[in-house]
Amino acid sequence: MESAEPTTEAESATEAESAVDTARAQLERAAAHLDVDDGIINRLRHPSGVYEVSIPLKRDDGTTEILTGYRSQHNDVRGPYKGGIRYHPEVSKDECVALSMWMTWKCAVMDIPFGGAKGGVVVDPKDLSEDEEERLTRRLSQELRPVIGPMKDIPAPDMGTNPQMMAWFMDAYSMQEGETHPGIVTGKPPAVGGSHGREEAPGRSVGIIAEKAIDHYGWDITDTTVAVQGFGSVGAYAARYLDDQGASVVAVSDVDGAIYDPDGLDTNDVEDHDARPGMVSGYDAPEKLTNAELLELDVDVLIPGAIGNVLTGDNANNVQADMIVEGANGPTTSQADTIFERRDIPVIPDFLANAGGVTVSYFEWLQNTNRRAWSLERVHEELEAEMLRAWEAVKAEHEARDVTWRDAAYIVALHRVAESHEARGLWP
Ligand code: NAD
Repeated sequence: MESAEPTTEAESATEAESAVDTARAQLERAAAHLDVDDGIINRLRHPSGVYEVSIPLKRDDGTTEILTGYRSQHNDVRGPYKGGIRYHPEVSKDECVALSMWMTWKCAVMDIPFGGAKGGVVVDPKDLSEDEEERLTRRLSQELRPVIGPMKDIPAPDMGTNPQMMAWFMDAYSMQEGETHPGIVTGKPPAVGGSHGREEAPGRSVGIIAEKAIDHYGWDITDTTVAVQGFGSVGAYAARYLDDQGASVVAVSDVDGAIYDPDGLDTNDVEDHDARPGMVSGYDAPEKLTNAELLELDVDVLIPGAIGNVLTGDNANNVQADMIVEGANGPTTSQADTIFERRDIPVIPDFLANAGGVTVSYFEWLQNTNRRAWSLERVHEELEAEMLRAWEAVKAEHEARDVTWRDAAYIVALHRVAESHEARGLWP
């Protein structure tokens, strides 16, 4: 039995680090493996720009409230900035900067010709009526208009925002420009240029990458047990994909708890949380567990696919899975990462595994730019091809340098971004 106590300095370090500090530390860790000019690394430590806007929102009661919005544009050396817009009470400039840095690496590891951005409005979406959502989104589109564009910076939905809001955003932008610009945002409804297959893409990519990793370690997928935390957009599609490939998905969960069947659940029979809240934890399964217990199940593959920071210094020593594939963004703290590295538990990083979302966003933008829609089959085929290409590139670094999967993915991404900077040079 492993000790539950942290055993190295890194493992016992404080976890209270700002998001930007974490993002910079990850950049420097990757830079240490590559011969990249310090000037380029210095540029990448900072966003190219962060825009702060005040958004006057007329409330339904006739009063006017001033909300704060941000758009952080980290890097566009490889193509237009790309990243979501979230509506959340805890949105901050610092968080947008860090998330925009991660978008740069996510697009680069996928070799998508986009850079990284992220934006948000400090607002609780639960406090907004539908009319207020529409007025806020249209006004935000107008306030950001000087810094965004289909060839400049392309937003997408994120926490608290959805396809309908993207349609309003696109409509407001198009009205001001005097012509229809479907490529100004991705994640739109298909009726206005949204792509088939966008909804299931991040979960599907988690499944595809997990399948490759299972194969890499020489396991037979039909003998592989899987536990998935979260049964929403990411978790449900990842679980169903792996179930369809023959894996035994023994546990899934929603915010209220987990269900467990050692013989494997029929994941297509479990309704996802979005479809009907409570249907996961309320499902008739042999055993009910807590979310904390799910994370410590003795399974081959653990997929944290709900929220961030669930694998920490407190529980990493109790995790019994032989491999972790990150479905959610940032489910593993740095402290937990260090523990998993010492315990030889591979962690396949979020920005590779769940990159199917931004990849199909790129497909959506291509379809908008070319004014030609793709079939669902084509989206699935091209997504699989892109995921396999990215997997092979990361695997090559993992094997050649004997580094963790996370470091290998950062090395691939940083190498591509740095190479573009070197080729373009610094102007003037
Ligand atoms: P979602 O809202 O569709 O589903 C979230 C699931 O997690 C639900 O089943 C919910 O009940 C459960 N959950 C919520 N709080 C929980 C908690 N405290 N403990 C356990 N379970 C909890 O969200 P999603 O779109 O599937 O996103 C999940 C994660 O994946 C997030 O980290 C998100 O940032 C990341 N992600 C999403 C996308 C995307 O396009 N949807 C893309 C990449 C990454």
